[in-house]
Amino acid sequence: MSSIGRSRTTGKRSDRQRLVQRLDRIFSKYIRLRDMIPETTLFRCISCGQVKPISQADCGHYINRSHMMTRFSEVNCNAQCKQCNRFDEGNMSGYRYGLIKKYGERQVQYLESLKTEYRKYEPFELEALCDHYNKKIAEELKKRGLKISCLTK
Ligand SMILES: [Zn+2]
Repeated sequence: MSSIGRSRTTGKRSDRQRLVQRLDRIFSKYIRLRDMIPETTLFRCISCGQVKPISQADCGHYINRSHMMTRFSEVNCNAQCKQCNRFDEGNMSGYRYGLIKKYGERQVQYLESLKTEYRKYEPFELEALCDHYNKKIAEELKKRGLKISCLTK
């Protein structure tokens, strides 16, 4: 009995982690598509302001991914160049400046206030968010007349 209980618990936990990773990948694609400059496959990096090909974009988190409350926030996540995201530790002062320009100071303060809040996603919520963002990806691609490969090419 106890071994069944344990394996069930483990199964549930890994299911959640697997879904979080799946949603990370889907959400990242949506954010990069959303932030493409219309009629182009370019984006402006939220932190350094440089315009670069979308293939050089990451989905950069302002409040880092360990905070579940803001991990899938559309304000917290923006197209960021790989240089800023991976080699400049997120260029956080530039990121904050870029966020204020994009969303306004009040939204940024609100976002920052969420950092200390606890959020746990149930598997059904993660699945629903995967479906939601898959739909939004399809809409963005249709609107722009592009294929998903534009993110990597
Ligand atoms: Zn940058």
